[in-house]
Amino acid sequence: MKYSYACEPLAYSFDALEPYIDKKTLNIHFGKHYQGYIDNLNRVLQNAVDQQTMTLDQLLTHLRSLPVSLQTGVRNFGGGVYNHALFWQVMAPQGGGQPAGLLAERIEQTFGAFDAFQKQMSDTAKTLFGSGWAWLCTDEHGSLSIIQTHDQECPLTDGHYPLMCIDVWEHAYYLHYQNRRGDFVDAWWHVANWPFIQARYEEHVK
Ligand code: MN
Repeated sequence: MKYSYACEPLAYSFDALEPYIDKKTLNIHFGKHYQGYIDNLNRVLQNAVDQQTMTLDQLLTHLRSLPVSLQTGVRNFGGGVYNHALFWQVMAPQGGGQPAGLLAERIEQTFGAFDAFQKQMSDTAKTLFGSGWAWLCTDEHGSLSIIQTHDQECPLTDGHYPLMCIDVWEHAYYLHYQNRRGDFVDAWWHVANWPFIQARYEEHVK
């Protein structure tokens, strides 16, 4: 992705993730929140000629080397665009289940079993204070790690390559789940798009 940024269409309809993620929430999340990050990122970069030619991955990876006047805007809105663009892809109708292949092997090696991984990822999402994200990340060696980021900070900025994410900003769940973030996180696993996440891992480590 590169300037000027645009809202790619969702690969599924707004009601396709029901009952786990309701149509109204997904519609507002995608059409208002995500669109807002895109519009604001374009505004932040409108006079930044050098940064307009960089990809969003490059901007976020090298965030701390950007002109200071751009850093907050790229962190908040660039992160908002990148994080959500990935979030839409790590979910799918008829998702859920467990990964297979290389990713499944590494999850077992790293966490002992899929259940243990799932619990650690869920706990990471549930215990994040305030707004932010839980992530499964990898590195150049294919090692796996689970991390939290606050607000719209992107793991790329700290050298982690994100494989999957759960958005635990209230806007991701509040209309349907209200204060019950834990119920949202537990339900989220039913829409996990393992074929996509596995392919992303294999693509990164090959
Ligand atoms: Mn969000």
